[in-house]
Amino acid sequence: MAAPKVAVVGAGVIGLSTALCITETCPSCSVTILSEQFSPNTTSDVAAGMLIPHTYPGTPTHVQKQWFKETFTYLFAINNSPEAPEAGIHLVSGWQVFKNTPKEELPFWSDVVLGFRTMSEAELQKFPQHRFGQAFTTLKCDCPPYLLWLEKRLKASGVQMYTRKVADLWELHREYHIVVNCAGIGAHQLVGDEKLFPVRGQVLKVHAPWVKNFIRDGDGLTYIYPGIHRVTLGGTREKENWSLTPDSSTTKDIFDRCCSFEPSLQGAQDIKVKVGLRPSRQCVRLQREVWSQGGVKLPVVHNYGHGAGGFSVHRGTAKEAARLVGECIAALQGSSSKAKL
Ligand code: FAD
Repeated sequence: MAAPKVAVVGAGVIGLSTALCITETCPSCSVTILSEQFSPNTTSDVAAGMLIPHTYPGTPTHVQKQWFKETFTYLFAINNSPEAPEAGIHLVSGWQVFKNTPKEELPFWSDVVLGFRTMSEAELQKFPQHRFGQAFTTLKCDCPPYLLWLEKRLKASGVQMYTRKVADLWELHREYHIVVNCAGIGAHQLVGDEKLFPVRGQVLKVHAPWVKNFIRDGDGLTYIYPGIHRVTLGGTREKENWSLTPDSSTTKDIFDRCCSFEPSLQGAQDIKVKVGLRPSRQCVRLQREVWSQGGVKLPVVHNYGHGAGGFSVHRGTAKEAARLVGECIAALQGSSSKAKL
């Protein structure tokens, strides 16, 4: 069989990292990315990009931990290289605080992040409304720079990228041997996945260079995540809300909540409001299937539904998707050599 032609649909963090893993594991493949939007117009551009896992109730914990660990290790290596500033990858230390002690005092990812420990009474004095806290150092991706860095690496590996809205994955069967679906919330319409729903998130990106530590309320609703150039203030989690229009009363509410944690934010400047739809599901859809019409077959690999934690696990799920693409290639090679006999 000639070099397998693979189409990756989607150019958010999942599509770009999946395409990169495919080029790494199958250098003979010809990989093309087709996407309705590229950076800076994807959900991935809106994200804070903090590596703090979100829990997927439908996925075994050891699998989630593996995805997180692979992602952390990959980004930590970038952080320890001269590429770090261009890729937007940096270490950030801070606190996750709780009004009451959580059931799980040690989250499953506590030995992956650096220096995880329970906060001291002295540290908790900064948060008079909270009784328990965890201090640790993790990684953060500044999202648009990281997406551009991935795109640059893909172009250097010969990956083609085209702006194109795909109405039906089947339409790609004449041009490609394998299709990889990384359409994020777009998969709701693209493959009619009723289990996929949006969780709307509104955030503020502000200029406040004096804020160096992250602060996250344990309920995940209020957070302050300093990046290299801007601080992300959040947030909201609105299930089944498809609106991408910023809401001004929500902006004020987020700002007030964040200022109650970090009063110096009153002096923040150049406030920009962003909205994104988290592609949410009980579990990430990471699956291989074979579509068939009139005797023609099309192997399809799905990798979408990362909800609130796509950055935290992207490299782990991309590696698994690339492994599934490898299985598709082996099956195609098996059937083409049988056909020759
Ligand atoms: P997207 O970035 O939405 O990419 C989907 C791509 O598919 C786009 O390029 C789109 O144009 C394309 N597409 C869709 N349909 C079609 C079609 N029919 N044809 C062609 N192309 C199509 N995660 C973390 O880990 N840490 C965080 O701190 C964090 N903060 C967040 C804050 C907010 C406010 C939000 C909204 C999300 C946050 N997330 C965070 C979650 C993270 O953003 C998502 O999990 C991740 O971006 C999902 O990536 P994706 O590539 O699947 O989706």
